[in-house]
Amino acid sequence: MSYCASRFHTVRRPTHEVMIGSVGVGGGHPIRLQSMTTSDTQDITATVKQSIALAEVGCEIVRITAPNVTAAKCLQEIRAQFSAAGFGHIPLVADIHFLPSAAMEAVEHVEKIRVNPGNYADKKKFAVREYSDADYESELQRLHDAFSPLVKRCRELGRALRIGTNHGSLSDRIMNRYGDTPLGMVESALEFLRIAEAHDCRALILSMKSSNPKVMIQAYRLLVERMAQENMHYPLHLGVTEAGDGEDGRIKSAIGIGSLLLDGLGDTIRVSLTEDSVYEIPVARAIADKAMSLWQPATGDRKPETDAIDPYHFARRTTDRLALTPRIAINVEQPPRVIVRVGTPADLPAVLPLLASPKFNDTPAEGLLVTLPSAEALAGLPDPGAAFYVLEPDAGMTAAACAPHAAALRPGTVLLRKFGAGDAAELAAWTALLRAHGCFLAVDLAPADFAALTPALRSLGTGGLIFTLGATPATAAHATGGYRQLVAALHTIDSRAPIWIRNTAATALRPDHSFLSKLLEASFLTGGLLCDGVGDLVSIETEPDAPRATKLAYNVLQGAGARISKTEFVACPSCGRTLFDLQTTTQRIRAQTGHLKGVKLAIMGCIVNGPGEMADADFGYVGGAPGKINLYVGKNCVQYNLPQAEADARLIALIKEHGKWIDPEPAPA
Ligand code: SF4
Repeated sequence: MSYCASRFHTVRRPTHEVMIGSVGVGGGHPIRLQSMTTSDTQDITATVKQSIALAEVGCEIVRITAPNVTAAKCLQEIRAQFSAAGFGHIPLVADIHFLPSAAMEAVEHVEKIRVNPGNYADKKKFAVREYSDADYESELQRLHDAFSPLVKRCRELGRALRIGTNHGSLSDRIMNRYGDTPLGMVESALEFLRIAEAHDCRALILSMKSSNPKVMIQAYRLLVERMAQENMHYPLHLGVTEAGDGEDGRIKSAIGIGSLLLDGLGDTIRVSLTEDSVYEIPVARAIADKAMSLWQPATGDRKPETDAIDPYHFARRTTDRLALTPRIAINVEQPPRVIVRVGTPADLPAVLPLLASPKFNDTPAEGLLVTLPSAEALAGLPDPGAAFYVLEPDAGMTAAACAPHAAALRPGTVLLRKFGAGDAAELAAWTALLRAHGCFLAVDLAPADFAALTPALRSLGTGGLIFTLGATPATAAHATGGYRQLVAALHTIDSRAPIWIRNTAATALRPDHSFLSKLLEASFLTGGLLCDGVGDLVSIETEPDAPRATKLAYNVLQGAGARISKTEFVACPSCGRTLFDLQTTTQRIRAQTGHLKGVKLAIMGCIVNGPGEMADADFGYVGGAPGKINLYVGKNCVQYNLPQAEADARLIALIKEHGKWIDPEPAPA
């Protein structure tokens, strides 16, 4: 695996150090946190105030949009006032789209310039045309001529540069040759990287952002692999664009950023939320701290790794089909199933009615994880309704002790049990017992013990078995790596047994009992594995409140694109270009359309970048001019300059016209 030193441990990717003013990124520096102001850059007072607010909550690098030369000139005074307020040590970054002239002004005043390769020298027209090799070469020469002056000035002034590729704003040239793909994103950045290197400019940082965590994860991995082939070791800035707000925005960001940090990639991060930017920093801090707690030295005494997952292309792992109820099955055509821990049999009379009520959750859990204190308790289990039971017997219960009571097992029930290296006989006994009753065994087995049980698994076959790592202390060091090892071990015996991803106290990296911590852990582990195509059942057992745990599990599945149970919102974080109040607009539109399962809605603050960056949204609500909204169907603008007061209703009418509207369910009494 050439993009990272280990898929089973977090070994930080070695990079060279890039100084942004006095702040070092990459090399031996910790993960740096950054964010962006949302004020109009020409409102110097407001921009300085926001920069100070960000610095005071721990932001180490502050980015400010420079949409034109006038705004870029304001950066001089913003830098001066920010320094005078005591923040001379915090570097400022100018965010540039489209206008090299704005970059050439901004570079005089701030420590770093971010350029978007998709629009620095290219105009995005969504044009479809064939580029001959000669055409392509001449475009590259044009790019060289347009970008070189900035590179040279950065060198002269000691500024850093970020080559910040966005999935949604690739140039027509790249789109026509490579498509809207991670490979296209990587090639787009490499074109700029080679120009910078031609001028001996090495103060470079790269990013490969997308609103889709899967796409950004693959793009960063591919970029690192390509850079390694060319002996390039530049630091990475990680982020998920247009992640949205609230729980969903945090989950999407944590899935994308967390997965890469666990791979050892990433040197500075930005969590983009459609909220005041100061709220991004605590999330970024928690993500960075969890990842840094796993860092291992590059030279460790590690065994060679065999991984069974292709990290560059998403493909869901193929599994055997298991029918858990007449309506709920597991296999590659089915979405991952959600299990919730509901306590003991004594808790069930109170919980089961709740599960049947829409008040419990819009989408109820499918599996009910119940601790079984004794085999006798099997007989007293009530009908679970549409759900299936997952029973966790007391650790001392043997298959022989359970056998006299096994007639009470409902077909499709899953029994969860931990096995060690010496448990081959017990594994065989449980497997036989459960198979005889049409039930399934969830085997909690540490990767280190897998080899000892391999002969037993080979002779038994793994049909009807599910594998998990929820309670094994060995996984605490790196639960994602543990699951990857488990998948690799199953691959060695040609097993297609499903995988159940469990978030438990044993899989947590740095638990602090806050909901944010649980959300981040679930996003790292469950979301990250789902983006690698692994995971057939999921449970968030770190959250004791069953409705909240269920909702969190569905939200993580949605964030990873593994199971869509509600409307998908792509909302930009806002910046100095934003033409309306993104936070209130997003909340208002969500209140009206949040029930449209499977519809993807983009809410973007400006027409300059919004249409390009809303990626594969079905409908777009984009700021066209102050107080005016443009509506999109896919990438096509279909209604221009609507007064904002009318735009919500017109958006809903558009969704209806395209047959994607359903009326919301009446609220439960
Ligand atoms: S889409 Fe949003 S974040 Fe991006 S430039 Fe426009 S207003 Fe700023």
